[in-house]
Amino acid sequence: MSQSAEDADVIVIGGGAAGLMCALTAGQRGRRVRVIEHANRVGKKILMSGGGRCNFTNTGTTAANFLSANPHYCKSALARFRPAQFIEMVERHGIAYHEKELGQLFCDESAKWIVRMLPDECEAAEVRIDTSCRVDGVDRSDGGFVVRTALGSMSARAVVVATGGLSIPSMGASGFGFELARQFGHSVLPTRAGLVPLTLSGKHQERFEGLSGVALPVSAQCNGQRFDNYLLITHRGVSGPAILQISSYWQPGDDLRLDLLPQTNAFDALKGLQAQRPAAELRTALAELLPKRFAERLCEVWFESRPIKQFNDPALRTIAAQLQDWPLVASGTEGYRTAEVTLGGVDTDELSSTTMQSKRVPGLYFIGEVVDVTGWLGGYNFQWAWASGVAAGEAV
Ligand SMILES: Cc1cc2nc3c(=O)[nH]c(=O)nc-3n(C[C@H](O)[C@H](O)[C@H](O)COP(=O)(O)OP(=O)(O)OC[C@H]3O[C@@H](n4cnc5c(N)ncnc54)[C@H](O)[C@@H]3O)c2cc1C
Repeated sequence: MSQSAEDADVIVIGGGAAGLMCALTAGQRGRRVRVIEHANRVGKKILMSGGGRCNFTNTGTTAANFLSANPHYCKSALARFRPAQFIEMVERHGIAYHEKELGQLFCDESAKWIVRMLPDECEAAEVRIDTSCRVDGVDRSDGGFVVRTALGSMSARAVVVATGGLSIPSMGASGFGFELARQFGHSVLPTRAGLVPLTLSGKHQERFEGLSGVALPVSAQCNGQRFDNYLLITHRGVSGPAILQISSYWQPGDDLRLDLLPQTNAFDALKGLQAQRPAAELRTALAELLPKRFAERLCEVWFESRPIKQFNDPALRTIAAQLQDWPLVASGTEGYRTAEVTLGGVDTDELSSTTMQSKRVPGLYFIGEVVDVTGWLGGYNFQWAWASGVAAGEAV
């Protein structure tokens, strides 16, 4: 079916996860839908997600896995489009997948199968997708909107803003959705990089010099949140799932603590090692509990390495307490260049939680990452993109 430039019911700005899901849902309902994507292909971020295998959902998704000024906002959409419904689509397309950990589902082979599935569904629903098409602006018109694009002006009854966040500008990220929201009188809550490596500087960085690549399980805690997973030392600071997760709860100056021996009573472990190998140096004993290079560095910078039998109980207790409540003094984050998500965004107070429609401007919708809803690491962000996309797709 050919569409003239003016006859779409719905124009979706942004052909990412949320936009494509919204478009195919609306198309299946018989709506004439046009997706406008400024990159040269749709779904670029999906392609690079999950290390190229796309962690496309998390079977344990609940509202508790998201950050938002209004923690209740995401509940309705998440309840109406569940991980099982996306899995059903994945299975219908014969895409093999597996559970990695904690309900995280990944493609067996490649994220490209998800990137192929969504436009295939769009095509079946007669959705028109224009790539390499810049959107210059959106204006209201009688009964709808005029979207000004590089291909000319297009009019539609409804406009869905699915332009994502600011992370990874090289993948097409833009602040366009936030500008559009402000233009139509919406508040945009301050944005910052989330799920992002932290940087260290000065003596805090020097103390970790040469340890890049060392990984260890930790429990990272900040502002009442706690994540148990791996920390990875990098050239610039620290990364790894535990750090990415806690980064979304951390801001410069906040107290961030690491338990370097999670699920272990460090004092009992040190006492045990003292009993087994009393003549061993502390650095050797610690290397039984921590990566060797890391244990050695601890004893070069923080602890005095003597035979462990020379430490009395109070001294061992002090070391144990430090290991289990280690202050990590980060100077900042690596920023949007490497962040997986953008925190903040379009204020949910001015959006309907059932349809994602603007309460200010009928016919205008905001979905996905552009909205102030940000998930943890582990497939939650895509589940929000699918669920919010479906909520709007069913309403437009
Ligand atoms: C490296 C990396 C790995 C990730 N891995 C995972 C993972 O495994 N699991 C998970 O759940 N989440 C993951 N995420 C997060 C996830 O990719 C996002 O949360 C999700 O893509 C958001 O969907 P969206 O549709 O809102 O935005 P996007 O997918 O970013 O789509 C927005 C689209 O809008 C387009 N656009 C922007 N401005 C304009 C404009 N002015 N005109 C036209 N088009 C425009 C962009 O080019 C883009 O295609 C990852 C993110 C990154 C960066």
